[in-house]
Amino acid sequence: MSISNFKLTTEEYEANFADIHPPFENLTAALVEANRCIFCYDAPCMKSCPTSIDVPKFIKQIATENIKGSAHTIFTSNIMGGGCSKVCPVEKLCEGACVYNLMEEEPIQIARLQRYSTEIAIKEKWPLFTRKPSTGKKVAVIGAGPAGLSCAHVLSREGIDVTIYEKEAKGGGLMTYGIAAYKVTPEFCEDEVNYILSLGGIDIKYNQEVGKNLSLSELKAQYDAVYLSIGVGLARQLAIPGEDLEGVVDAISFIHDIRCKGYDQVKVGDKVAVIGMGMTAIDAATQAKRLGAKEVTMLYRRTQEEMPCTQVELDIAKLDGCRIVWLAAPKEVLGEDGHVKQIVCSSMVLGEPDASGRRSPVDTGETFTLDVDMVIKAAGQMPFEALVADNQLANKYGKIVTDSNGVTNINGIFAGGDCVNGGKEVVDAVQAGKDGARGILTYLGS
Ligand SMILES: Cc1cc2nc3c(=O)[nH]c(=O)nc-3n(C[C@H](O)[C@H](O)[C@H](O)COP(=O)(O)OP(=O)(O)OC[C@H]3O[C@@H](n4cnc5c(N)ncnc54)[C@H](O)[C@@H]3O)c2cc1C
Repeated sequence: MSISNFKLTTEEYEANFADIHPPFENLTAALVEANRCIFCYDAPCMKSCPTSIDVPKFIKQIATENIKGSAHTIFTSNIMGGGCSKVCPVEKLCEGACVYNLMEEEPIQIARLQRYSTEIAIKEKWPLFTRKPSTGKKVAVIGAGPAGLSCAHVLSREGIDVTIYEKEAKGGGLMTYGIAAYKVTPEFCEDEVNYILSLGGIDIKYNQEVGKNLSLSELKAQYDAVYLSIGVGLARQLAIPGEDLEGVVDAISFIHDIRCKGYDQVKVGDKVAVIGMGMTAIDAATQAKRLGAKEVTMLYRRTQEEMPCTQVELDIAKLDGCRIVWLAAPKEVLGEDGHVKQIVCSSMVLGEPDASGRRSPVDTGETFTLDVDMVIKAAGQMPFEALVADNQLANKYGKIVTDSNGVTNINGIFAGGDCVNGGKEVVDAVQAGKDGARGILTYLGS
């Protein structure tokens, strides 16, 4: 057993990380699918989209070969409609709500149709929006993830001059640095950010970390309003013995390396245990397997009924050959010469529902041990508590408290996205950005 990189050939890496949802090959294929839509008057697909994209309208526009109009409809509600068409868990959103499901037929491939028009718009750099003349008002946005970019786009369209401060060297947030590479490529993320910026009026200052290079109070003094969209941080600690052994890694850092360093540069074990069953855990497990791990075992302390990921995501992990062990909680990581050797797990049963409404795991006192050489921690992420608390922002365990327009307890400071909801999906962050922009525009009297 060993942790190493270069486990596969270049061709194998490319095949393993190829686009999991291939696009329509041509207009004809898109037209055939668009013409299956029956354009329901009450549009359950639109109601189940957090950004309320007018799905029947954009599909009708594709059906009538008005691709530009269709892209405009999508981007009006969701400026990251291109990225969302690749990463949204549509099975629990628009496609899950499609009436065809009730007829036991395949739902309309809404995401694939959305991808069709948005990809063309981004590739052709269609200027679908214009910016109103500058109002002279200035807003600072902290974090160039989906929430920050969405907020910035709405504000700039209204003539507000926006400066985004981003600690990384690229924009896109977790779209660029977190989501599995087989769902969305780094090249697409870059094109999407550039497309958003092409509106004008938005300046991104990269490698600028608020709390390190500059302070929130400085920004508050320099700008008319500040929007915080800093997301959430690293994976939660397991708080068990052996967590500091070499080979125990954080899922977010592991995935960050895959996105930044290239597949052959990222070390992976032969026998990997992944702790957790959310989207991050699934992405870590599937990508560990795709990097060449021989065995990947996902450990979750509850059962399939309580898992945070969707059935589709679980199926991806299973198809990739990941083994799932339900009702297993990590108890201790054992090592040899400072390296991970085994993981000891407690066998759990389900007890009474906890605060989340899900039945809580209860330790049976029995344990089992797995031979592993790598442990990936993906049992939830921690908010940036220090930044939030140091600036006296009202919060719940580090999650910033706001009203529905992103208004915080501090006059002129707004917030949204994962740093407020604790970690949901891209589409929720985009909507939060729109809500925050509305709050800021009201505050500025624009
Ligand atoms: C591994 C993983 C897989 C996921 N998979 C999916 C998926 O398949 N589909 C889906 O819809 N969602 C997925 N998500 C969730 C989704 O990525 C997030 O909900 C979404 O990106 C949140 O957007 P945000 O703008 O709030 O935060 P982020 O995307 O986290 O962006 C925050 C930005 O703020 C910057 N920042 C942080 N602190 C500072 C600071 N102090 N100063 C300056 N800049 C700062 C960060 O560098 C980052 O660019 C996944 C998340 C993870 C972790």
